[in-house]
Amino acid sequence: MSTVFAKILAGEISCDKVYEDKHVLAFKDIHPKAPIHILIIPKKEIRDLQSVKPEEMHLISAVVSAAQKIALDLGVTDGYRLVTNNGSKVGQTIFHLHFHLLAGAVMDNL
Ligand code: AMP
Repeated sequence: MSTVFAKILAGEISCDKVYEDKHVLAFKDIHPKAPIHILIIPKKEIRDLQSVKPEEMHLISAVVSAAQKIALDLGVTDGYRLVTNNGSKVGQTIFHLHFHLLAGAVMDNL
C-alpha cells in the first residue's frame, strides 16, 4: 500500500523538508498541533513501530539522532516531545512509521 509518505519520499508530493540523511527524512506536519511540529520518517517503508524487525532497529537510532539534530537546529533541546502512534486505536492515520517532534509550547504531562 502506497501511503502519502511514500509519495513524499518518491517526490510525487512536496513537503517542507527540515532534515534528510541516508536513513530518514523530516518535514513539517501539514496540520501542526504545536508551534513546532515535525514528522521524522524512516525512508524504508515500515508500517508502524510494532513492525520494526531486529535488523531494522538502526533506523530507530537514526530517527532519534535526527530528532537531536533538529532540536539543536531549532533551539528546543530543553523541551520537546518525540512520539509515535502505533495503530489506529491510538490515532495512527498514516501507516508508514513516523515520529512527531513537538515543541514550542508548554505541554501537559502524559
Ligand atoms: P498520525 O496520526 O500519527 O498517523 O500522523 C499523521 C500526521 O501526518 C498528521 O499529523 C497529519 O497532519 C500529517 N500529514 C498528513 N499528510 C501530510 C502531508 N502531506 N505533509 C505533512 N504532514 C502530513
